[in-house]
Amino acid sequence: MPRKLKEHNGLKMSAEDPRTPAGAAPPPRFLAATHEVLNQPPELAGYNLYAADRALREAVAREGAGAAEPGLLEFGRRIGTPEYLELGQLANRYPPEFEPNDRFGHRTDLVRFHPAYHELMRTAIAEGLHASPWSEPGPGAHVARAARYYLHAQVEAGHGCPVTMTFAAIPSLRLQPELAARWEPHIASRHYDPANRPAHEKSGLTVGMAMTEKQGGSDVRANTTRAYPAAAPGPGQPYELLGHKFFVSAPMCDLFLVLAQAPGGLTCFLLPRWRPDGSKNPMQLQRLKRKMGNVSNASAETELRGALAWMVGDEGRGVRTIIEMVAMTRFDCMIGSSAGMRMAAAQALHHCSRRSAFGRLLVDQPLMQNVLADLALESEAALALTMRIARALDARADGHEDLLARLCTAVGKYWICKRAPQHAAEAMECIGGSGVMEDSPMPRLYREAPVNAIWEGSGNIQCLDVLRAIAKTPAVLQAYFDEVARARGGHTALDRHVGLLKAELGGAPDPEYRARALVDRMAAVLQAALLVQHAPGWMADAFCRSRLDGLGHHQFGALPSGVDCARIVDRAMPREP
Ligand SMILES: Cc1cc2nc3c(=O)[nH]c(=O)nc-3n(C[C@H](O)[C@H](O)[C@H](O)COP(=O)(O)OP(=O)(O)OC[C@H]3O[C@@H](n4cnc5c(N)ncnc54)[C@H](O)[C@@H]3O)c2cc1C
Repeated sequence: MPRKLKEHNGLKMSAEDPRTPAGAAPPPRFLAATHEVLNQPPELAGYNLYAADRALREAVAREGAGAAEPGLLEFGRRIGTPEYLELGQLANRYPPEFEPNDRFGHRTDLVRFHPAYHELMRTAIAEGLHASPWSEPGPGAHVARAARYYLHAQVEAGHGCPVTMTFAAIPSLRLQPELAARWEPHIASRHYDPANRPAHEKSGLTVGMAMTEKQGGSDVRANTTRAYPAAAPGPGQPYELLGHKFFVSAPMCDLFLVLAQAPGGLTCFLLPRWRPDGSKNPMQLQRLKRKMGNVSNASAETELRGALAWMVGDEGRGVRTIIEMVAMTRFDCMIGSSAGMRMAAAQALHHCSRRSAFGRLLVDQPLMQNVLADLALESEAALALTMRIARALDARADGHEDLLARLCTAVGKYWICKRAPQHAAEAMECIGGSGVMEDSPMPRLYREAPVNAIWEGSGNIQCLDVLRAIAKTPAVLQAYFDEVARARGGHTALDRHVGLLKAELGGAPDPEYRARALVDRMAAVLQAALLVQHAPGWMADAFCRSRLDGLGHHQFGALPSGVDCARIVDRAMPREP
């Protein structure tokens, strides 16, 4: 039989030893294979992200989106392939680049992205993550979208920024009906069109948001950008904006909701990237920010040099107008951080169920079980709260649901986003040294984790917003306690802590100083109430004992004795049934 020769770098290689050129003397044995790679888990890839997530499947059915299940199963399979998961790595390895002018010197304000980013955007928009609850409202619309967003954000988080802003802009835009009638059909289009061209030449539009200025982010009333009427003043009318914006993420969006000082006070405007006559609207990018995370997403510093924009909502009511958008971006921060925790927990569980140390799989070692179970608990509790708020958004005509959404978006945005960085760090540690390496998904999850807590109202701002909501509409607090009362009798620790929280909220001094402590408790009690109602008893028990009774639960892996860690770990394992 003829000897088969393989080729390597143009050399014919021996069939017996493919490292040896044909005809050459074989190397001494000790220069041959040095070792076999052992005890290294394979990549977590090639699985159905939806099918392998029991908690998510239960939440989708429970919160009213059961009809979306077949689509979610198909989506989970499609985005779990190794090729699709790799898009997340690529979109971050090759960051966006800014080109202010074309080669002839014309101002273009172009940001170039890696094709992987565009692919992620294309999918997100085709799936309706940017608009489906508005363009196709109905039972379970927010829940189904939240589930899809949760899955896609596990692949990559940065592209979620323009997707979220586009989704969130619609409620604000609808406050100016003629502008909404003109733009919403194009925003809701399922076609992603990244071209740097005027809106009327494009098949789909995305929307960004520009509030923050150098002198004030949380305190947007400190905005100094001025708006001058370009014709008759008033809502829906054109203005010219002069000033700057210090953070404008996704600057390739086609439209932006912008805050500026009109003669009557801080006002919201809709600013297109190109003017209707096809010329470049002078919202000029100065540079892209150099960010520690959220790398695939571009965030720019800009100047507004007489940029044309249309007034949205009433003059002087800018915060009132844009808060409709901000409420939705805050909800998406809950989804995004829950997704990050799910992916981090899945990576840790996958790794530890295949990696041995000291003669046993890590997942079978009691202390590691404690850590893994704790990570899984946090992840499921975050998801349960997020999906409960998604249902509330689907049912805002119901007074209880509306009040719950108002208060608990702030509670959840604060708490879930705050838990994510510590969770990511702990999951990374489960994987050990390899978890720190840039070719693992962990550094990306870790660096992505803090941003959700900072933008769209940082932690303190959310806590103060909770106090403000309670002071302005005391019924929100009643709605909160009505909601947790649904779990009454389900766990003694929960009942006890509901009583303690009522006393604490009932007039203890210094609420502003203690706002974090209060909202911490509100979040933990609400998550506990959801798990007591909907999760297996051993899961809810572990949560109540560690998060309610376990005062000072500052560290993952400090669950009390008697928790059924093995079942918690098994439930969370990214494994198809
Ligand atoms: C990656 C990235 C992208 C962004 N993209 C956009 C964008 O597209 N559009 C946009 O408009 N903005 C964007 N931002 C800005 C972001 O929304 C702001 O950074 C955020 O609102 C905080 O504002 P600031 O940075 O001015 O901080 P500050 O407002 O100065 O706040 C600093 C700290 O003080 C705390 N604080 C403020 N007031 C109080 C108070 N009364 N009591 C107690 N604590 C308080 C805050 O919680 C925060 O921790 C982006 C930010 C980042 C990091």
